[in-house]
Amino acid sequence: MTLFEKIAARQIPADIVYEDDQVFAFRDINPQAPVHVLLVPKRLIPRLGGATDADQALLGHLLLKAPEVARRAGIADTGYRLVINNGRDGGETVPHLHCHILGGRPLAWPPG
Ligand code: AMP
Repeated sequence: MTLFEKIAARQIPADIVYEDDQVFAFRDINPQAPVHVLLVPKRLIPRLGGATDADQALLGHLLLKAPEVARRAGIADTGYRLVINNGRDGGETVPHLHCHILGGRPLAWPPG
């Protein structure tokens, strides 16, 4: 099981802020902004680079749920950024596709 599958199974504690039958979201343990939530598909897709057409509906659902998670986290009106890290240079550390939702302060561009 991946770390995030263990969080979904409640084997590892986390502050879960949203969950449905396909995705779940929880606060990042090492937040990079005042609000930093990870939105994760329950079915394991290791990374975006390995996704296929079979993942289309799940990835669409994931993206469409991001505004709902942002709203629950209180940053829908002030704005937020979605980040998916892919591979070594992208900064991927957990091989279970996830979308970072960051907000609560102005975010610099370009990212580091
Ligand atoms: P990435 O580097 O894009 O793969 O993102 C992995 C994220 O998972 C990092 O931002 C970590 O801080 C976060 N993370 C790692 N372990 C935990 C955990 N137990 N609970 C919450 N977030 C975690």
